[in-house]
Amino acid sequence: MPLVDSHCHLHFAPLLDDIEAVLRRAHEHGVSHMLCVSVSLSDIGPIQDVMRRNPSVFGSVGVHPNEAGSTDSLFDDLVRLSAHDGIVALGETGLDYYRLEGPDTTRQQQQFRQHIAAARQVAKPLIIHTREAAADTLRILREEGASDVGGVLHCFTESADFAREVLDLNFFISFSGIITFKNAQALRDVARLVPEDRLLIETDAPYLAPVPHRGRSNEPSYVSHVAQCLADVRGVPPERIAEATARNFFRLFKDAAPAEASAPLAMAADPRHA
Ligand SMILES: [Zn+2]
Ligand SMILES: [Zn+2]
Repeated sequence: MPLVDSHCHLHFAPLLDDIEAVLRRAHEHGVSHMLCVSVSLSDIGPIQDVMRRNPSVFGSVGVHPNEAGSTDSLFDDLVRLSAHDGIVALGETGLDYYRLEGPDTTRQQQQFRQHIAAARQVAKPLIIHTREAAADTLRILREEGASDVGGVLHCFTESADFAREVLDLNFFISFSGIITFKNAQALRDVARLVPEDRLLIETDAPYLAPVPHRGRSNEPSYVSHVAQCLADVRGVPPERIAEATARNFFRLFKDAAPAEASAPLAMAADPRHA
């Protein structure tokens, strides 16, 4: 059963330096598709390069809340760039009040609103990043009508109440390697509550490597550890998590067409990482 990594940054070092091997290991571990997520508008070139090399990779356009930048033409730029082949979503966008070295909250909120407006314009889903900004994130999603396009709360670390609110807004919830961390019991409790048809899994590689790779550079092949952890938490076989999250991925990112199987897609038991 194929796994899908719904959020990674293959165009970042050190993944990009070793991209052929990274993608080969992903395929060997049963990862059939990956979504390579933008954090700035200039990411479009490198992401397109990766997509051209491998039809199992899709892309997004967006500006991370911690990326400084002008908002003047952002809406137009997002609409224009999201028309490129293989671009299936807008983001990652949202609010991150944890580190406010770059743009202030006003600019983050303006950029977030522009992403939602652009997503509605082009009818593509949103990839949302939120950190220490739960109330403002919910308010802006509501005010801008984000539920019309939906999307995903990526790398979810919020409460059960927040999960219920975003589920009501037509969003999916994606869990990363954080769910495998020893101190993440509260998050595992939330993961038990999310309906199976709204679950996604991700690595956020090269960041946040799951246990047992914690502290090292992350890569899409490790998404199997996220699937295994979710399976343990929910008391179901990992194949069921893989199947549900892959199905959900293509339901949400409707412009993402599954590539013809070019690699063995069996869900690896993953002896090298066990
Ligand atoms: Zn993020
Ligand atoms: Zn990310």
